Amino acid sequence: MLNIYPVRAFKDNYIWVIHNQHYAAIVDPGSATPVLAYLQQQKLQPIAILNTHHHNDHTGGNVTLLQSYTMPVYGPANENIPGLTHGLKESDVVHLSELSLDLAVLDIPGHTAGHIAYYGGKSLFCGDTLFACGCGRIFEGTAQQMYASLQKLASLPDETLVYCTHEYTLSNIRFASAIDASNPALAQRVIEVEEQRKHDIPTLPSILAIEKATNPFLRCNQSAIIHAANQHSRKILSDPLSVFTEIRKWKDTFFQETNVTQ
Ligand SMILES: [Zn+2]
Repeated sequence: MLNIYPVRAFKDNYIWVIHNQHYAAIVDPGSATPVLAYLQQQKLQPIAILNTHHHNDHTGGNVTLLQSYTMPVYGPANENIPGLTHGLKESDVVHLSELSLDLAVLDIPGHTAGHIAYYGGKSLFCGDTLFACGCGRIFEGTAQQMYASLQKLASLPDETLVYCTHEYTLSNIRFASAIDASNPALAQRVIEVEEQRKHDIPTLPSILAIEKATNPFLRCNQSAIIHAANQHSRKILSDPLSVFTEIRKWKDTFFQETNVTQ
């Protein structure tokens, strides 16, 4: 039985440590210090680093971890990852035999040009692409790439557990509620997430079925989202990609517009 533990780092990052009480794989160690503390406290032997993309808050701990432990570093083949030993692309599989876990690699560009996800054991490690009730900013790719990447993730089984790398859920939900106010599943989620955050409980992992019911970036074919995008752009946008592009742009400035601090 695998445990997947959120090691907290920086303001709102989670570094997921997948372990079986003995061996551990570390997903996106932006900082080494909290990971080293957790490994020592739990007496875990790390066997791999798994990076989803090159941003420093996901890879900044690689070099320090490698000073303490010898292990392979998996990550996107097309990005500059410190200590990378195994460059990965779509349809590669990472075999973590110590954990009896195989992870399939998915190319999901958009947030960065080479961003990848790992999927296996009903779990998805999707970095900064899909968030609970939101999605990553488009820094290097195009809206079209990001939309296709999110659609690819949405096609995984409904029961998939979604391990994103930031605690952004509450602010994401504020935006989602503004554009999808009549969605009862979203209203229910607001109550649950507010309660969790009041007690400093992580809102992750999410479940893909819940994302499909509440995440506006996976609901660009729904009339409420189309309507909101049309109102905001003052244009008639009907295809899901145009709706997605509009609401992704809208969210980039939403918290300035509404004067809510994120
Ligand atoms: Zn990032």
